[in-house]
Amino acid sequence: MKNLNPEFCKSVKLARREAGLTQGQLAAEVGCKQSALSMFEQGDGTKLNDEVIEKLAKKFNLSFGNQDSKEGSASNFQLSTLNFKLSSRGFCPNPHCPTNKEYFVEEIRLFLPDREAADPVGGKYCAMCGELLERMCPNCGAPVHSGAVCSLCGQPYISAV
Ligand SMILES: [Zn+2]
Ligand SMILES: [Zn+2]
Repeated sequence: MKNLNPEFCKSVKLARREAGLTQGQLAAEVGCKQSALSMFEQGDGTKLNDEVIEKLAKKFNLSFGNQDSKEGSASNFQLSTLNFKLSSRGFCPNPHCPTNKEYFVEEIRLFLPDREAADPVGGKYCAMCGELLERMCPNCGAPVHSGAVCSLCGQPYISAV
């Protein structure tokens, strides 16, 4: 197999030793030459064909290359990236942007940022108007939360111009 992770070759070697098998015994079991298995265990993934590698993986419960292990970690990675993006959504500081909903509290003009609309993918610029997004309170630098006013310093996130 080309581009096989050398770590897989090493883990085959370790698993074989743990199982108390010689290279010859294991080679006979999975149907390859002992010399090929030996070179494979040195990290040369091209020495065995896919079928034999799959047998080894199955026998020792190992995962190789772009099969299960990478798929698993890739989806974990995507999940954590997604969580990060969701929690770090910016808001658009442009009071004229349609993502900011104007409202009044005791005749004070405020804007409620729709962070999901302004920053649907965790980007750098507002998806609606192209303004550079803010992820911090412009006044005190606290991370932005939902709502229109910073809970730390009391400053509205978007100042009406
Ligand atoms: Zn905008
Ligand atoms: Zn603040």
